[in-house]
Amino acid sequence: MEDSIQKVTDLIRRSQKVIVFTGAGVSTESGIPDFRSPGGVWQKYNPEDFYYQKFISSEESREKYWQMSREFYEPLKNARPNAAHEAVAELERMGKLDCVITQNIDNLHQRAGSSPQKVIELHGTAVSVSCLSCRKKYTREEIQSWLLRDVKVPRCDACGGILKPDTVSFGQSMPVRETEEAFHRARNCDLFIVIGSSLVVQPAASVPLEAKEAGAKLVIINREPTYHDSYADVVIHGSAGEVMSKVLEYLKTK
Ligand code: NAD
Repeated sequence: MEDSIQKVTDLIRRSQKVIVFTGAGVSTESGIPDFRSPGGVWQKYNPEDFYYQKFISSEESREKYWQMSREFYEPLKNARPNAAHEAVAELERMGKLDCVITQNIDNLHQRAGSSPQKVIELHGTAVSVSCLSCRKKYTREEIQSWLLRDVKVPRCDACGGILKPDTVSFGQSMPVRETEEAFHRARNCDLFIVIGSSLVVQPAASVPLEAKEAGAKLVIINREPTYHDSYADVVIHGSAGEVMSKVLEYLKTK
């Protein structure tokens, strides 16, 4: 592992425009479960229940969704950024970072000190909720207080419309601006570092390949093998926080 960390450090030193691409694995050390690991969200809930079309067409689906969301929001709200989020924020302060492209909805990059304008959220954010009819916005915190008062399916207090967190559900279209910007920046970076993603959710999982095909070096840091390991210049199978703190330590000392 030390050799690989040295290689990543050398790549960062040689690069001017680094993109960090994160998935749920960057936040598990903050206490937010990912989807696919043992104990992850999909061992408890069936993803098929959370398709967007079901959500908008069935009160029963919305009730299941909000039950899951009520439970998932608590660890998310209490989570604190970990060493990996902090290392990414430090890369920005060192002037190396082009942007962070994240599949996460937990706001932890921003809370670690990454500038909001440098964080591209491909799958939206869990910190706000919108009415699907009149677009009135709420904080997720306010809606949580309704759920904790035993509201099973919250409705817009302005127009009675369906409320939904500002996250991208299965079957829902990706945000156009963020998706285009992610692919555009990927084509123009010199180093692309994936941290904590199984690289199975599309189209997000294609962004690293776009960078690689355009000539960037590709680094993948993940606990277990991913589908794209064979395309990477350096692969480290380890924990995000531990690996990224070592990378920073090497950058500052070796
Ligand atoms: P995923 O669950 O498919 O994969 C996470 C990967 O991270 C796994 O391969 C796992 O081995 C690895 N991992 C777990 N902990 C790790 C650690 N500490 N260090 C290094 N690797 C670690 O997640 P994904 O690829 O992000 O895609 C699933 C979808 O889940 C995304 O769309 C994302 O929006 C959503 N999601 C987000 C959060 C969050 O915001 N924190 C949490 C769960 C799911």
